[in-house]
Amino acid sequence: MPVATHDPAIDPTQLEAWDLAHLWHPFTQQDEWEADAPPLVIDRAEGVELIDVHGRRYLDGVSSLWTNVHGHRVPRIDAAVRAQLDRVAHSTLLGLAGTPSILLARRLVELAERHLPHAGLSRVFYSDSGSTAVEVALKMAFQWQQQRGQTSRTRFAALDQAYHGDTIGSVSVGGIDLFHAIYRPMLFDAVRLPSPERAEPEEEAACLARAEALLAAHGPTLAAVVVEPLVQGAAGMRMHSPAFLRRLLSLARAQGALVVVDEVATGFGRTGSMFAMEQVGPLDPCALPGGGPDLLCLAKGLTGGYLPLAATMVGEHVFDGFRGPYTDLRTLFHGHTYTGNPLGCAAALGSLEQFDQDRLLDRLPGRIAALGQAMATVPDRHVAERRQRGLMAGLLLRHDRPPRDRVAHRVCMATRRHGAIVRPLGDLVVLVPPLAMDEPTLARLVAAVAAGIADVLG
Ligand SMILES: *Cc1c(COP(=O)(O)O)cnc(C)c1O
Repeated sequence: MPVATHDPAIDPTQLEAWDLAHLWHPFTQQDEWEADAPPLVIDRAEGVELIDVHGRRYLDGVSSLWTNVHGHRVPRIDAAVRAQLDRVAHSTLLGLAGTPSILLARRLVELAERHLPHAGLSRVFYSDSGSTAVEVALKMAFQWQQQRGQTSRTRFAALDQAYHGDTIGSVSVGGIDLFHAIYRPMLFDAVRLPSPERAEPEEEAACLARAEALLAAHGPTLAAVVVEPLVQGAAGMRMHSPAFLRRLLSLARAQGALVVVDEVATGFGRTGSMFAMEQVGPLDPCALPGGGPDLLCLAKGLTGGYLPLAATMVGEHVFDGFRGPYTDLRTLFHGHTYTGNPLGCAAALGSLEQFDQDRLLDRLPGRIAALGQAMATVPDRHVAERRQRGLMAGLLLRHDRPPRDRVAHRVCMATRRHGAIVRPLGDLVVLVPPLAMDEPTLARLVAAVAAGIADVLG
């Protein structure tokens, strides 16, 4: 039977059956997926709500995996993508330029000038996902050091419990054993710097002391250090203070390592400022120009959560290290087929316009406070800890059941019955709402989670 792409007559139960028969879902134990059947099939959306094939509505409590900024079906972004469709859906950046990728690069450089003026980020290299944005940054940093004759700088330093994506380079700098341990034999070995679980002075001081020793020991072999600034999201919302990060990155840079900041999750307002690095401020002066970061990775929120697009932004000093006649072979031999895709760039331009139009950054403090207040109402007997920076948050469940009970997973499944979609990370119920979610809706989201917790934990 031929399948029409948007056939409203397709029976929802048929879709559910075909999902079970043909799909392999990411980060998913398919046995559990089958046990939880039928799968929840999203068909459309409106604002901050997702709508399934049966017409049921759910608050998008994780911003469709931390990507969505302004809600779904935003007229300005929809129009930007449609207008681009009427011009061209894709043309390559290999040997050709394209209108939207130029306009977006200009816009991103302006944004960096406004929010990270000390960094001097002047160049944009496009790719398609957070993983590739990091992968590109690692290769740039490595090659840059090699091409300045620093041939012993072949290693990377990264934080404990880091998550930088799922390709082999970004997994190599990752530090979450549950996701990464099995691949160790195929990875390169990174210098692992201790990271605090909470932004508490004593824990941070202890981590810094150990990091300082490691950086002193390995400094001359480091091409770069790579970090998620302020929040290690995938590790379960581990947090550190801006002062901790400023000191750590200043130490690394003083050792001659480039600083790669992975703002794939934190970028575009997520932690309350346009970039998390704004809260960190300039790094200490050293032999490298500017106040860092030298390389900045952007993805998730870049298109407002519309389309896969990523950018690795670098300072002119990094870019200059790749100049020279072709025969010197200083070219960055890297590029993905859909690099700088026009539809993605048009969506990103629309999203950035929407930021200005809504004065979205000015609205965040009230929403951040509202999320915190709502999280405080979930009873302490079920919550061991509340983690929050900006609109990146989570409730760490308090229970004494064994891991096989999958308590947080069950809470998230129960929360759906109360009209919200959230996801677990270990025992943490993650809350990463769209920045556009208003205060009453944030309260409704947390109330749904609280009801889900009550269903499972009593
Ligand atoms: C999600 C994420 C990535 C990976 O992005 P993908 O688009 O999933 O490849 C990298 N770094 C951080 C900090 C992330 O949160």
